[in-house]
Amino acid sequence: MILELWQLTVHELSQLLLRKEVSATELLESVWGRIEEVEDQVKSYITLDPEGARAAAAESQRLLESGRPRSALEGIPCGLKDVLSTKGLRTTCGSKILSNYVPPYDATAVQALKEAGTVILGKTNMDEFAMGSSCENSGFFPTHNPWDLTRVPGGSSGGSASAVAAGEAMFTLGSDTGGSVRQPASLCGVVGMKPTYGAVSRYGLIAFASSLDQIGPLTRDVTDCAMVLDFIVKHDPMDSTSVEIKRGSYLEALRPADEAVKGLKIGVPKEYMGKGLEPGVEAQVKKALELLQELGAEVEECSLPHSSYALDAYYVIAPAEASSNLARYDGVRYGYRSKQYDDLIDMYRKTRAEGFGPEVKRRIMLGTYALSAGYYDAYYLKAQKVRTLIREDFDKVFAKFDVIAGPTSPTVAFKLGEKVDDPLAMYLSDIFTIPVNLAGLPGISVPCGFSEGLPVGLQFIGKAFDESTLLRVAYATEQACSLGNMAVLCARALAKGTKEGARG
Ligand code: GLN
Repeated sequence: MILELWQLTVHELSQLLLRKEVSATELLESVWGRIEEVEDQVKSYITLDPEGARAAAAESQRLLESGRPRSALEGIPCGLKDVLSTKGLRTTCGSKILSNYVPPYDATAVQALKEAGTVILGKTNMDEFAMGSSCENSGFFPTHNPWDLTRVPGGSSGGSASAVAAGEAMFTLGSDTGGSVRQPASLCGVVGMKPTYGAVSRYGLIAFASSLDQIGPLTRDVTDCAMVLDFIVKHDPMDSTSVEIKRGSYLEALRPADEAVKGLKIGVPKEYMGKGLEPGVEAQVKKALELLQELGAEVEECSLPHSSYALDAYYVIAPAEASSNLARYDGVRYGYRSKQYDDLIDMYRKTRAEGFGPEVKRRIMLGTYALSAGYYDAYYLKAQKVRTLIREDFDKVFAKFDVIAGPTSPTVAFKLGEKVDDPLAMYLSDIFTIPVNLAGLPGISVPCGFSEGLPVGLQFIGKAFDESTLLRVAYATEQACSLGNMAVLCARALAKGTKEGARG
């Protein structure tokens, strides 16, 4: 079978570009052709930047031809979640309130990718201010899951996940506050990683909940994830929570499957299996863990006893921080301003009433309430104490185990519209990912099988700053499960869905 360029991985394309077997402009046109073919159905992007991308690809080509590529990512087309500030390129955060905002600077992670020579295609769709699990809270339009167009891609980095799955980008960046990289990665059959809090600079990442937010890559495979991570994990004086870590190359840390997991102690929290988990998801996760066991890993049950309080703590802490972070959108400094108002207070009120969508307003109200005098101790302080207990649960398990494994999402991709009127059902999508953010730990989702024809993700959680072990075990999983070329499988499913859509 001859593959199209847009169906290849970053590491494959990097080789072709460096060996001058493919040009950066040829690669861009292949991805651009794919975007033109499927974007109407999938809707991964809020903003596309054809001129910027063509200019960047031409520059990459010039450097490749002269034998001076800036890095292994030279000429690789990528997409960025619209929560990342991009100099001169509209950045909406999925919100009407920022629909006209053009940042004067690049986020540090974006700058790192530009310096590496990547070609930025555009800004991907997301739930407004990264609040959601389905991409349906976007202030503009919902994104569709390319595996089944009647289903959600997950969220909030839904556009970043669908773009990689559908071949509309070679890789993307997303952000993960409670699961927003890992859950959509799981639902779209791609690899998604949330690095340790402090590993990737948050400078230029539009803030949702600052103590939880982290930028992470979404890629076709684990090798690509390691490659991208190598460029974005670095200390940044512009972010006071950025950590200076001594590390080698993540890419070079990858090992053949058996070598990677022999003797590795994998804990499977009993709280993550069973109740609330779709049987099809449970079966695929168990099957993948058995394969790792055959490769020599020691898989054993463990317990994170405070897991059932994680969601409650998160939905106090995240909205509390959001209510404070979102106070800046008042129509004065930047973004949307209401057209008609009586006085200053009325201008603030109308700007925020018209600019924010319902989920964002719900979070602002929840957060403002939790932080108000008289309730602070009962809600916010209590939630912070629960957060400590959750972190201590992980510490205890990591005294005995190297990594923790379980499902990323309790379900496969659900139908568009299925949970929009039931916020609590929507919040449950992140039940296995949220504890990881509360504890500040790294987590990765890797495709491990299919249920009802839809991808299932296996999540690994690691010790702080031990991304290398996570990548190794995820890489072993990828090889052990050998699901085939996901880009090809997804393209087939999408072609079928498009045909059915045209008929029905
Ligand atoms: N779905 C969760 C929420 O709505 C997590 C979002 C995220 O990680 N950005 O808050």
